Amino acid sequence: MSEMANTDPEGIDAVRMTWNVWPRTKVEASACVIPLAVSIAPIRSHPDIPTLPYAPLRCKSCSSALNAFARVDFTAKIWICPFCYQRNHFPPHYAMISETNLPCELYPQYTTVQYSLQANPDPNNPSSVPQLPPVFVFVLDTCMIEEELGFVKSAMKQALGLLPEHALVGFVSFGTQAHVHELGFSDISKVYVFRGNKEISKEQVLEQLGLGSAGRRPTAGYPKGLQNGHSNTGVNRFLLPASDCEYTLNSLLDELQTDQWPVQPGNRASRCTGVALSVATGLLGACMPGTGARIIALVGGPCTEGPGTIVSKDLSEPVRSHKDLDKDAAPYFKKAVRFYDSLAKQLVSQGHVLDLFASALDQVGVAEMKVAVERTGGLVVLAESFGHSVFKGSFRRMFKDGEQSLGLCFNGLLEINCSKDIKIQGVIGPCTSLEKKGPNVSDTVIGEGSTSAWKMCGLDKSTCLTVLFDISSTERSNAPGTANSQLYLQFLTSYQDPEGKRMLRVTTLTRQWVDSAVSTEELVHGFDQEAAAVVMARVTSLKMEMEDGFDATRWLDRNLIRVCSKFGEYRKDDASSFTLNPCFSLFPQFMFNLRRSQFVQVFNNSPDETAYFRMLLNRENITNAAVMIQPSLISYSFNSLPQPALLDVASISADRILLLDAYFSIVIFHGMTIAQWRNMGYQSQPEHQAFSQLLQAPHVDAQMIIQERFPVPRLVVCDQHGSQARFLLAKLNPSATYNNSIDMTAGSDVIFTDDVSLQIFFEHLQKLAVQS
Ligand SMILES: [Zn+2]
Repeated sequence: MSEMANTDPEGIDAVRMTWNVWPRTKVEASACVIPLAVSIAPIRSHPDIPTLPYAPLRCKSCSSALNAFARVDFTAKIWICPFCYQRNHFPPHYAMISETNLPCELYPQYTTVQYSLQANPDPNNPSSVPQLPPVFVFVLDTCMIEEELGFVKSAMKQALGLLPEHALVGFVSFGTQAHVHELGFSDISKVYVFRGNKEISKEQVLEQLGLGSAGRRPTAGYPKGLQNGHSNTGVNRFLLPASDCEYTLNSLLDELQTDQWPVQPGNRASRCTGVALSVATGLLGACMPGTGARIIALVGGPCTEGPGTIVSKDLSEPVRSHKDLDKDAAPYFKKAVRFYDSLAKQLVSQGHVLDLFASALDQVGVAEMKVAVERTGGLVVLAESFGHSVFKGSFRRMFKDGEQSLGLCFNGLLEINCSKDIKIQGVIGPCTSLEKKGPNVSDTVIGEGSTSAWKMCGLDKSTCLTVLFDISSTERSNAPGTANSQLYLQFLTSYQDPEGKRMLRVTTLTRQWVDSAVSTEELVHGFDQEAAAVVMARVTSLKMEMEDGFDATRWLDRNLIRVCSKFGEYRKDDASSFTLNPCFSLFPQFMFNLRRSQFVQVFNNSPDETAYFRMLLNRENITNAAVMIQPSLISYSFNSLPQPALLDVASISADRILLLDAYFSIVIFHGMTIAQWRNMGYQSQPEHQAFSQLLQAPHVDAQMIIQERFPVPRLVVCDQHGSQARFLLAKLNPSATYNNSIDMTAGSDVIFTDDVSLQIFFEHLQKLAVQS
């Protein structure tokens, strides 16, 4: 396992691609079945990435940044842009360059470089540059039982202690009404009350807080008032440096009670989550437009009051399920999604983030709020209780400094340049399309599309995006041989780092074009099956959300059969002759597990859980996302070192311990004999030290995974035949229920039944793939 952790398949560029060589034409690309996609973690840290203290040179025609793939004429002091072939003159301060004196961005190994962009730095006193403080507005639900409110208060106090001193903090609490707390008013606590049952416009929020148009004019870009030392009155009253308001906020939290409005028997509490978030958004828009700020929503139940309502107050009416959504029998759903969609637009235009910490036994509306969290690049954590380690550990982690830091950054802007003939279809992941049209923008849209630029209000070290590409359908006029054999892609990400500095990351990639109509050999060797499996999972999830009646299983089966027919080796109509190149051989098993996963079998979960799983699937890197689809299983026994085990019930054995990593949960499973010995206390007897070590080993490995992961996964420790064993069994291939009576009719549309074993799945796949 530690071996796996040490390999870095993403390298300095933090990139994985489904195909590492690209077919020349649109027709050939669509014959490849698996889309051309790049998964990139645009600001992942890497020790080899240089940081340059200047701004990059830009091509005057296509504005791509100067990079290692530019052709340079050192005598004429000219560089030729690899994207548009424009000749650009070097400016005077590059006059010294030569073959032996290259600026960093032209070194061939630096395909990714980072620029530190500082507005008017004073060379004599670099620390004089005003750095933007990060802003945190906590929005706390008070409709919960005393015990839960106690948990969340203590988590918040801990967070306040961990915030950087200069960070600005604001506080909104809500129940039946929303309360904005004026923190700069320390003698008596001053609160602005908003009714919870009515949608409230941005103007009304400002008027009521005394931040209306009379007091101030809207400002674009960075707030000048702030840079001149917090002269903006709104900032002073509602948003205070953590060091100044920690005491006030702590005593405010001590006094804060659960919502005092009476709840009728048989009713849900009246909770105005939507109004509270509108008010927080309006406050940030008035005080801090264009600077990095996040709203941290701590929600303990469903919205039942005003905009964003997901269920009525009547407890006899359950919160919508997938079945209800499927039958269009969720009367509040669409309206709530529309509300959060418009909130997302407001947040994105202000450059602000919505983070959601939902902790409740029932659903709270993550499915409705997803659009606002995902479009703003917010974090999301779903737990059963504010006292559970999933919430507590994740929340603390968000504010941790140093090595454990998530590296939360703000106000990101991603731009993509690509070679002629490459079209961008869109991005799946935490961002919003800026609708910037151009010659490289495809008419076909997948995810956030119709653009070559995206806003990322919130992004961090691990934020990952999937960009889907297509090849232009225009006939290539170039005669073979004269065409450029390399394609280029450039990703430019500018953002505000945790210290408030403006940074720009530039990653420039090149790959080879191939004529796959002639031979598929090069294509096959450039296939990344793990990346392909994750991209298929992301596209499938998106289609399930966007397309009514989309049959995910059937779509995946059809595509898998097409992949195997194209890239497998076989004699027509002879299933026994079928073989797959090792570059593809793991892919069918990924698809088998994807079909069984929470991403496709959504009816086993609530809409909130599905929304949560999908948001994390879309924002994690390929390695992590692959574990969500196909968990890893490690076996521990006396006879050997810990080793990977097949994801199959056959791996269960009485004298083994299994460690399952299903990403969202980690399961330690003791075989029957192991559990008996443990119950008899052998581990504490000196002669059974080896047994004690065996018991400990999976716990040590589980803790290593838990420490690195955000959100913190749920840890389940269980025994064979125990009730919690289902957490393991649900993920294992049901080889023991092997049923060879299932047969398949040739050419039939219903291809596989849902619960077939891997072996049956492969047999059917081979038969169908070789069919002429
Ligand atoms: Zn150019």
